[in-house]
Amino acid sequence: MSFSTLGLCKQLLEAVSEKGYDTPSPIQAQAIPAVLNGRDVMAAAQTGTGKTAGFTLPLLQRLSKGPPAKANQVRALVLTPTRELAAQVGESVEAYGKHLRLRSTVVFGGVKINPQMMRLRKGVDILVATPGRLLDLYQQNAMSFHTLEVLILDEADRMLDMGFIHDIRRILKALPNKRQNLMFSATFSDDIRDLAKTIVNDPVEISVTPRNSTAPNVSQWIHPVDKNQKRHLLLELISHHKWEQVLVFSRTKRGANRLAEFLEKNNIQAAAIHGNKSQGARTRALGEFKSGKLRVLVATDIAARGLDIEQLPQVVNLDLPEVAHDYVHRIGRTGRAGATGQAVSLVSADESQLLQDIERLIQTLLPRKLVAGFEPQNKLPELALRPPAKAKKPKKPKPPQSENASSRAETLKNARLTAPNPQKRRRNPNKLKSQSRRPMRTP
Ligand code: AMP
Repeated sequence: MSFSTLGLCKQLLEAVSEKGYDTPSPIQAQAIPAVLNGRDVMAAAQTGTGKTAGFTLPLLQRLSKGPPAKANQVRALVLTPTRELAAQVGESVEAYGKHLRLRSTVVFGGVKINPQMMRLRKGVDILVATPGRLLDLYQQNAMSFHTLEVLILDEADRMLDMGFIHDIRRILKALPNKRQNLMFSATFSDDIRDLAKTIVNDPVEISVTPRNSTAPNVSQWIHPVDKNQKRHLLLELISHHKWEQVLVFSRTKRGANRLAEFLEKNNIQAAAIHGNKSQGARTRALGEFKSGKLRVLVATDIAARGLDIEQLPQVVNLDLPEVAHDYVHRIGRTGRAGATGQAVSLVSADESQLLQDIERLIQTLLPRKLVAGFEPQNKLPELALRPPAKAKKPKKPKPPQSENASSRAETLKNARLTAPNPQKRRRNPNKLKSQSRRPMRTP
């Protein structure tokens, strides 16, 4: 199949061929015609499947047929959970839309709001935004959604994991009822289905990866190792295998910093990205990693969410994620769009329960490989594969009355309901910011 059979106009076909794509990925083959026909879409697809082009290409085509956005108006809104993902979607919109006369912009927190307000003043056809900053801008009347035609929720599961549910509901209230809705999520839990019911209307359902599975072209295994030996083992693996571009996941910001420092001391160029780093530092580190200047990028889950690094061959979990779904997301960084990849986890005995949760979720026992000289003193117990867990039905959250303490408690409670491991939630800097906002005006 080629892109020209999907009904895309010549300007978009040209942009696609300039990107070097010749065959649509499965999600693109299914989503593009559906979106062009004006249908709502609900798609189970993780990063790496080509989902961004799957919604961006038909979106651009539909918008190019109508009148351009007037001052302050937004015609299509793409909501993403993180700044990095917003920036990447924004880049895709620019790249695919380069031969069309459509205006787009990206807004997210952590940078000055005024330049974003200026850009919105003229009106934009496509606005890519994270929920918190979008609400801040909306409260300041930076834009209007009266003429909004399309809403896209990207990585909806992560939005819920990060506690954005109330922000999303507030945003939905500000949008016109008649609109096209596209919803993308790596996993489709019951909470996501509940949210979908309030958003999509008679959607075309697309699934390009089996529920909660990892990409088949990624080889995965674990190295059992003592906790205090992990970073030494990582150093050994990097030099032994001559890994040139490695994305390492760390559960904590401090752990990410310490590992990057340790690697630098051992002559491996490395940097850490996480929520405490400025947007500038994060963008710079990502740029240097992509260009090959940095050999190792150490990231926390939230910072790494949706990172689009083409053909990343190697992902290492320095520690296992506390939320088993994050393992699937982490592994999604490699083996992208048909490339093969390796995902290696360094697992200490205290992580045995986390390992069991992951193996249960992906319904696979991960192969174990001992590395000579790093055999653990504290043995990792042998685990049996347990049947998949049944998803609990979450309570329906009440719509918030105000942004006061009780609504905050509701938000946090709801965030916990959506999390597979309620005791160990991450804190999210965006969320804390958004909690201090005043209630939003309805238009
Ligand atoms: P995404 O899942 O949207 O994050 O895309 C993952 C990667 O696949 C990105 O680097 C895209 O540039 C690339 N990609 C998207 N569509 C195609 C395609 N049809 N052929 C080859 N690569 C693609």
